[in-house]
Amino acid sequence: MTDNIKTLCPYCGVGCGLEVSPPAAPGKAANQDSLKTPIWKVKGDRAHPSSKGMVCVKGATITESIDCDRLHYPMVRESLNQPFRRASWDETLDLVASRLKSVYEKSGGDAVCMYGSGQMQTEDYYVAQKLLKGCLGTNNFDSNSRLCMSSAVAGYVQSLGSDGPPCCYDDLELTDCAFIIGANAAECHPIVFNRLQKHHKRNPHVKLIVVDPRCTPTAEVADLHLAIAPGTDIDLLNSIAYLLLRWGEIDKGFIDECTSRFSDFAAAVQHYSPQKVAKRCGISAADIELAARYWSKSKRVLSLWSQGVNQSSEGTAKVCSLINLHLLTGQIGKPGSGPFSLTGQPNAMGGREVGGLAHLLPGYRSVSNERHRHDLEQFWQLPPGQIKPYPGRTAWDIITGLETGEVQFLWVVATNPAVSLPDLERVKAALWRSPFTICQDAYYPTETTAYAHVLLPAAQWGEKTGIMTNSERVVTLCSAFRPPVGEAKADWDIMAQVAKRLGFGDKFAFTSSAQVYDEFVQLTRDRPCDMTGLSHEKLLTEGAIQWPCPDKGNISPKRLYTDLRFPTADGRAKFTSCHSRGLAEPPDPEYPFVLTTGRLYGHWHTQTRTGRIDKIKQMHPEPFIEIHPRDARKLGIADNEWVEVRSRRGVAQFPAKITKAIAPNTVFVPMHWGYLWAEKSEANALTHPISCPDSLQPELKACAVQIVSLVVKTADYSSVSLSQVHP
Ligand code: SF4
Repeated sequence: MTDNIKTLCPYCGVGCGLEVSPPAAPGKAANQDSLKTPIWKVKGDRAHPSSKGMVCVKGATITESIDCDRLHYPMVRESLNQPFRRASWDETLDLVASRLKSVYEKSGGDAVCMYGSGQMQTEDYYVAQKLLKGCLGTNNFDSNSRLCMSSAVAGYVQSLGSDGPPCCYDDLELTDCAFIIGANAAECHPIVFNRLQKHHKRNPHVKLIVVDPRCTPTAEVADLHLAIAPGTDIDLLNSIAYLLLRWGEIDKGFIDECTSRFSDFAAAVQHYSPQKVAKRCGISAADIELAARYWSKSKRVLSLWSQGVNQSSEGTAKVCSLINLHLLTGQIGKPGSGPFSLTGQPNAMGGREVGGLAHLLPGYRSVSNERHRHDLEQFWQLPPGQIKPYPGRTAWDIITGLETGEVQFLWVVATNPAVSLPDLERVKAALWRSPFTICQDAYYPTETTAYAHVLLPAAQWGEKTGIMTNSERVVTLCSAFRPPVGEAKADWDIMAQVAKRLGFGDKFAFTSSAQVYDEFVQLTRDRPCDMTGLSHEKLLTEGAIQWPCPDKGNISPKRLYTDLRFPTADGRAKFTSCHSRGLAEPPDPEYPFVLTTGRLYGHWHTQTRTGRIDKIKQMHPEPFIEIHPRDARKLGIADNEWVEVRSRRGVAQFPAKITKAIAPNTVFVPMHWGYLWAEKSEANALTHPISCPDSLQPELKACAVQIVSLVVKTADYSSVSLSQVHP
């Protein structure tokens, strides 16, 4: 392996370029520290167009986790009550293939499910789609992107005709007004936020509006923080539209030439005067007017959103409501403006391109579209009708399928559903019932490996070469810089070897990930995400490249829709009239608080990597619950005292952090802690699985809870913890 390998940070969807170099060889004067496993050096890649050398703490410490608690070789067991035993790859792959074959022959392809992740590289995703949706004839491939940004996908498709964020990061430095809704970018997308914040500081005319029930580090630096009540986003967005219409601050020419269904929309928002909406949202009418004023007075408005919008039982409607504002004001397809979804996972975008959700096919195609299925059947040389015309099981449907016994073979790749799915006790019970579960992961243990019959060791970031796409459609080759640990293999290679054992060898004769990628990009020809001009070799020699990047023609990829034509039947973007139904589980006298969940700056997802990095553990040593001082007073809770949080589904316990950062009647818990990292601290023990009807993304951001102090007040009012009373 050579010096200074260029790659991409494998954490969030910002997709910062990294340069990795080998650890220094221990010198003669080896001290205790130098005898530890040497750590690869990492720094930001100044040449990467998205990050220009910047990294956050996660990217800067990534190499510290690559040797910790790795899964080195395949392991198997007959039942979950037994210990694992080491097995050879041949024995394990034979077992996997024979089990899959017998389920397929007995119950059909739809009894087989794979649950993947935005950590997978594009090549891993592609081989999985070809195996499941193509050869096995089941669309039961879903990924944890379902929990993250499937509402953004559905919203883009409904409003603009296709998925694909139309903006680029340069717009962060070109905008006059950034409207951040449901995103704590300062902590969750730090380098995007750095770029925006620098622009905001340097240009006093630039306005920053943040919509969030919490006063997050993002909201702290905003010109206007709208701390709306959870679930009232659509009311707010419609009210801004109401004002823009009333003031005539709309782009009539754009509306007439480039959009449809405007009059329905204009009629629908007539019911959203700020005076009516303010009370529901829990903010003042004046603040709604100020937000509308900032929007209307800005030449270029960029909106940014993430899980706070997407993880909702009306996530798609929220996305469409936001896009409506851009259509109303013509703020799309030009520098510094547009609706910009920030993706969570490093390759969530790649997963979308390659069809990595249960209703999608590669190349931004859909399983429900006959022509799209036909394209794939021809390309994969499969018989007509092989690809099913209905969506496969989503993340939550996999769980209900385990409950009913319809799912008999579950293959989990690079994700940790035993922490990240909602209603965790139900999830764990379903996983326990699973007749056969594979966990294919780089790390062991994870909370999910406790439910596996087979563990397949995956090569991780840095040990395999593959492609990832970030939020601004920039495609980066992530080059391997060291061999896989133990017997670990690339995910695509493991799946291809199973496919060969199932008799599909001719379709999986790849000898490198570059070959897999070359095959995939052919499926993007003339699609919105055309990448036919890309290859591993080109990306290695030229660096990261943005799509669309066809092999013919001259396309400027920075922004989509610069010609103001949209990939809909009539070429027009579509207004969508949306009305809020509110939270799926609103608070009530028994469960009077709204629990909202989120992320912290240092940690990533379920801590599989970041929980193993000392610096990050010190930053965020334990979970907590944020409670407003007014609520804390009512509950008799002091700062740092332990409380029990109960929902209709489960309980969890946290020390209280009393802060005005959270609105009254709302509490906040970070989602990073599973049972391996802290006892009874799982945010998702409390959440519910009710989902958006369009995107099928669960409402992980809000559920009703009650809070009980775990401190027993004695007669003299001194505090004694429960653990002292009930050891
Ligand atoms: Fe990695 Fe995201 Fe941090 Fe960039 S902002 S270094 S991609 S975690």
